Amino acid sequence: MKYHIEVHGCQMNVADAERVTTVCERNGYVQCESWKEADLVIYVSCSIKQKAEDKIIGHLKELELMKRKKPQLKVGITGCMVRQTSTREDKRPDKLLKALKSVDFVFRMEDLDQVDYILRDETLLDIGRNFGDQKYLQVQPRISTSYRGFLPIMTGCDNFCTFCIVPYSRGRERSRLMSEIVRDAKKMAEQGVTEILLLGQNVNSYGNKNEVYDEYFRETPEHPFTHLLREMNKISGVRRIRYTSPHPKDISEELIKVMAELPHVCEHVHIPLQSGDDDMLKRMNRHYTAKHFLSLIQMIRQHMPRAGISTDVIVGFSGETDEQFQNTLKVAKKAQFDMSYTSMYSERKETYAGRFLADDVGKELKNERYHALNDLIRKTSFANNKKYVGETWEVLVDEVRDGLASGKTRTNRTIRFPAKGDLKAGDYVLVEVNKAMEWILEGELAKVTERKKSGIRAVKKKASSLKAVQYAHAS
Ligand code: SF4
Repeated sequence: MKYHIEVHGCQMNVADAERVTTVCERNGYVQCESWKEADLVIYVSCSIKQKAEDKIIGHLKELELMKRKKPQLKVGITGCMVRQTSTREDKRPDKLLKALKSVDFVFRMEDLDQVDYILRDETLLDIGRNFGDQKYLQVQPRISTSYRGFLPIMTGCDNFCTFCIVPYSRGRERSRLMSEIVRDAKKMAEQGVTEILLLGQNVNSYGNKNEVYDEYFRETPEHPFTHLLREMNKISGVRRIRYTSPHPKDISEELIKVMAELPHVCEHVHIPLQSGDDDMLKRMNRHYTAKHFLSLIQMIRQHMPRAGISTDVIVGFSGETDEQFQNTLKVAKKAQFDMSYTSMYSERKETYAGRFLADDVGKELKNERYHALNDLIRKTSFANNKKYVGETWEVLVDEVRDGLASGKTRTNRTIRFPAKGDLKAGDYVLVEVNKAMEWILEGELAKVTERKKSGIRAVKKKASSLKAVQYAHAS
């Protein structure tokens, strides 16, 4: 029996899909590349934007035809679109089961252990757990790239930004025990992972709400997230540590100093602006001002002058005037971002904004603002890229194709260069940068510094990689 997983959305969904993979395989399913060959298809869904949901619903409708030809095909859905774990037999099925004929079962990710019963056609034991139960993270993931690991350190969010669905779909914020995270990271390193991305909806508030220290760690006066970075930095074999997504209100000078001090923590900060206007920020329930945001940028540049800085911005949020959008442009210009995940506001019915604030900025105006902001970021990115020309940077190779290789610097810049020898994804190299473009850099390979580790997975059958269809970021 074959299974296929379709992943949509953020890296957290990729990390979740790696755990769904484990459950499918322990029930005897074998992974296949296309849903067309599969006996079981599971969607890890995203609901950050209506567009994301519509795309998944479109796919699932296509599967209705397929099920007519192949009645034994099972279809499941999890992720942010799901509110309640259920099957068609349940008295109160999730609304997705009513709306989509092709779907056989839906499950909240917290109820992953229930999928064992569903796949064996046994009765569900205990459906509808509480929000925030994160025992599912103890399921060992089947890592889908052999050199980069996605490691969730917390789930959920308590911030309730007025536009955001995450607190409703992922529930309240809960942090994992530090010992559990470090154990998972060591296991990843043994398997050949050299870059680890720590994940959370509000990653830098790790440990703010629940106890994360246990017998392996004595409580320190330091903030738990910075302490976790120190523990990660000690893990043998891990060369790069990144994290996403933080909230500006939880970025402290202590955190930035620790990032600058630890050799394996990369000099890249993703810091979501969302708007550069104080009234809009209040309307979004963001808990910072434009002035405070810019002081954080200054602090990052003071401690890590060459840090890469990226952001998220929503244009055309409820009531946004031209003047308010101009304020966003002003902040973006001062911040000199390298990159922005810009999105046009898309109303989500279940959020505060969806219920109480009008989606009153026209499509055309949203589109205009989207392009105006992107044009500005293109210029700031180009100006930042020019500083790299003539310098040599370490690159983790992500792709080698048609004689060209590309990968990322520690500052998260993409560099493309002619591939030589038997270069492959996962190798570390030094590249001399000779050309700056708006979004990427070009250069020449100077030296291979470390070959991709073979790791334990090299002797096992390689899992096909899980790639997410991405939309925009939260936080
Ligand atoms: S945007 Fe980020 S911080 Fe705000 S509610 Fe969503 S996940 Fe939480």
